[in-house]
Amino acid sequence: MTPAYRDLLAQIREDFPQPVSDQVHDAYFVFSILRALDQVDAMKSKIPLLGKAQPLDYAGARRCRLSDRPSSIEAVTRELVGQLEGLPLWGHPRTQVNVVAPPSISSIIGALLPAIYNPNLVSDDTSRGIAVSEARVAAILSALIGFDPERSAGVFTFGGTGTNIYGVKIGLEKAWPGAMEDGLAARGRPAVILASEQSHYSKLNVAGWLGLGEKNVIAVPTHLDNDIQVPRLEEEARRALKDGKRIAAFIATLGTTDAFGIDDLEAMVSLRDRLASEFQLDYQPHVHADAVIGWAWSVFNDYDFEENSLGFRPRTLRALAGACRRISKLHLADSAGIDFHKTGFAPYISSLFLARDSKDLDLLRREREKMPYLFQSGEYHPGTFTLETTRGGGGILAALANLLLLGKDGIRTLLGHLVEMAEVLREHLEGHAATTVMNGGNFGTVTLFRAYPDGVDTWTVKDRERCDPGYREQLLAHNEYNRKVFHYLHDQAMQGEGVLLSMTECYRHTDYGEPIVALKSFILSPFVDEEHVALIVEKVLEAREKIKAGGL
Ligand SMILES: *Cc1c(COP(=O)(O)O)cnc(C)c1O
Repeated sequence: MTPAYRDLLAQIREDFPQPVSDQVHDAYFVFSILRALDQVDAMKSKIPLLGKAQPLDYAGARRCRLSDRPSSIEAVTRELVGQLEGLPLWGHPRTQVNVVAPPSISSIIGALLPAIYNPNLVSDDTSRGIAVSEARVAAILSALIGFDPERSAGVFTFGGTGTNIYGVKIGLEKAWPGAMEDGLAARGRPAVILASEQSHYSKLNVAGWLGLGEKNVIAVPTHLDNDIQVPRLEEEARRALKDGKRIAAFIATLGTTDAFGIDDLEAMVSLRDRLASEFQLDYQPHVHADAVIGWAWSVFNDYDFEENSLGFRPRTLRALAGACRRISKLHLADSAGIDFHKTGFAPYISSLFLARDSKDLDLLRREREKMPYLFQSGEYHPGTFTLETTRGGGGILAALANLLLLGKDGIRTLLGHLVEMAEVLREHLEGHAATTVMNGGNFGTVTLFRAYPDGVDTWTVKDRERCDPGYREQLLAHNEYNRKVFHYLHDQAMQGEGVLLSMTECYRHTDYGEPIVALKSFILSPFVDEEHVALIVEKVLEAREKIKAGGL
């Protein structure tokens, strides 16, 4: 008699892709995916969400338990698709929320294939060509930003935050050789991270998790264009060195998250060189470039702006060239972080850490004897130095897919168009007496702006708000005013009548320490066009009228 479980097993085997090709079953597999996509498609409308945003039921979630009996692929698909209800559609032309890119079809296939075949990047033995793909992407990006691809090396990791961990950890091993083995306590004295106030907050996480401590992150003030004040950086670095501290890393941000401020990496590297020689340091402080957003502009490093073969408008060219001025210095960094899931149109998660000198990665390498059950065969074993043990191949193939699909001109076209749309928005905003652009000196696809009530002189208000403590009450009132505008825009977008934007509670602090609220348009959908940009301004003006009439 066959045991009872055997029937169930036969049924469950149908739930897996067949290990040996079975065309009828393959069709069922593909069709199951197709049905899921069909159901998602039915949730699309002129509202920039999938379906509608319903209240989220966490209480119901806590009551969930594992059922006794198996379900079917069809039923599970319906359940899974339902979970997408209310999700923002990043590719929708009416979505300008944040730095989230809609993935291309090739990059989705790149993420899907490893989801089926589970290559493990711990070793090339278990990942084969995908380990080679990782090396390919690293080489392509190295050459693009100006590292020597023969000397550099790269690994994909769990996000932009992961790339910052790698950068700082390598710097820490340079500053305190052997910290990996002996721990920081054995060193007695702290090591610091220096980065700008506008840099990403993940530096705090990195400092905390690496055991440096958040307190040892020194946040250096920025200029009004959101780039680090190098003389202030020098003061802070000197103070730390005089106090006998070591520098784990300088983090240069090439493209800040909110405003696309770009640090002067060249000046930071030359400052590092000067200090290393003046203080006769026995290590070279590491300079990591957090370029997770800005890397993509490298495609313009060798664009002939005079000839302008792609035909961008003069204002767009100026913005692209303005960003490139500093992005083109990326090759001076010791390492760089690159997110394909931000400005590379890939699905989450696709983040590359690039070391200019592959030897730097050796600082992270563990002894083989500590991992006895791994690495019996194959020739390349990233698992001997990566933070993760298992690493999937989705991010790698997604990145490779887009690099192959788009090429330089494809990325130029996408970025150029997004920047062009941001510039059109700025032109509109500058053309109205009631709106003003906050990050006019930053040339990305993100625009921070504020709206003001009648009677405010928008020529001078920015400076007064920022510098004049006597203007505090008005600043706070204007913050509240912009929150109202934001809520109106949000409601309108949810009714299919506007554009989904976001708001930052603190674009910068005023000189007297108050946060400045700003409305934020982050254009990353290739489908955004001039009418969607015009709609934003229309809706902002409409919000002003409603506020004036006392309706908001
Ligand atoms: C988004 C971002 C990060 C963090 O990247 P994740 O991929 O979200 O982990 C780090 N630095 C900058 C400048 C960012 O914009």
